[in-house]
Amino acid sequence: MITVPLLDLGPQNRALAPALEQAFREVVASNQFIMGPRLEAFEKDCAAFLGVKHALGVSSGTDALLLALMALDVGEGDEVLIPSFTFFATAGSVSRLGATPVWVDVDPHRFNIDLEDAARKVGPRTRAIMPVHLFGQSLDLGALRAFAVAHGIRVIEDAAQSMGARWEGSATMSVGDFGATSFFPSKNLGGMGDSGLVTTQDDALAERARVLRVHGMQPKYYHREVGANFRMDPLQAAMLHVKLPYLPEYNCARAGNARFYRESLVGVPWVAENRPGADDGAKVLLPVDFSGQGIWNQFTLRVPGGRRDELKAFLTARKIGCEIYYPVPLHRQECFRGVGRGAETCAASERLAAEVLSVPVFPELTAEQRQWVADSLADFAAGRPA
Ligand SMILES: *Cc1c(COP(=O)(O)O)cnc(C)c1O
Repeated sequence: MITVPLLDLGPQNRALAPALEQAFREVVASNQFIMGPRLEAFEKDCAAFLGVKHALGVSSGTDALLLALMALDVGEGDEVLIPSFTFFATAGSVSRLGATPVWVDVDPHRFNIDLEDAARKVGPRTRAIMPVHLFGQSLDLGALRAFAVAHGIRVIEDAAQSMGARWEGSATMSVGDFGATSFFPSKNLGGMGDSGLVTTQDDALAERARVLRVHGMQPKYYHREVGANFRMDPLQAAMLHVKLPYLPEYNCARAGNARFYRESLVGVPWVAENRPGADDGAKVLLPVDFSGQGIWNQFTLRVPGGRRDELKAFLTARKIGCEIYYPVPLHRQECFRGVGRGAETCAASERLAAEVLSVPVFPELTAEQRQWVADSLADFAAGRPA
């Protein structure tokens, strides 16, 4: 039996090993280990790639969110609209600043924040919305912009899973007051450790973030306000700079794998697309890229009818890696008990937490591996044994 890991970082980094090692040697020889031209060169190319005016390398995706919130002066007494179905960092960053998360439900077919529910939950203290372009698919960026203008609130796009995804003409991270992404090794542009990026089109916000990134220090050893150390290492920037030109290729390969799964499975009995109306039965639901330009950080199935854990066991028995992203909606996390508002009306988030399962879609999957995944999903849907 062939094995299919959920993610294998080996082939991608091995293919670039000579260039990565050369970049590493250059940084060592330069003796410039904090800030400097290597980081700036990487930032410049990220800004060009995303079509934004400013890009700042930071210590992690989480710190990118935190820094963006700080630069917008979000703090105690302020509320921030957050999707209740996402990775923890989105809400954690709000909470750490003493601001209050408002739990917004998600669209069960797109996995992204439901702007209609967000509109119902906007209050007088709501300062910002932090949509997450989850699993590699952009939210409708036109609708997002209109929402922010209508309610007079700020936007921080959490694009940790969607660097390179687009909605019509715009890239994620290009329409919000700030965009944030992560280079955690499992993201579409994966580094060799932790780091992230903050983007903005606004000169003043960029300057504010730049100063807050180094303890609010300007000029040296003079501090008008309290920031933190949110710097990205030049060493990390050098590694990522080697990989950045390949990001479109990686994203394309992921999309090719997703297309293969969909083409192999759409006509199979007991399988359907995850579209409105399809989620009432017991079919295995395939993710749909409603933007048409998604980058598939995850290929996330829905398995209604209480059979999700059964599929997980089935795939595990066949040595196919899979994972539940995410098993607990944020408003149900122990640390957020009694925190925030809006938790009563997050039914789709709760349902997704019980139904989702992500299967391998990383760029270097072999033809044999993805065929095995597709065959196994068809076998499960048909009720065949593992
Ligand atoms: C990974 C991730 C983050 C955090 O990024 P780190 O670099 O791990 O701090 C934030 N939000 C989402 C949606 C993520 O997937």
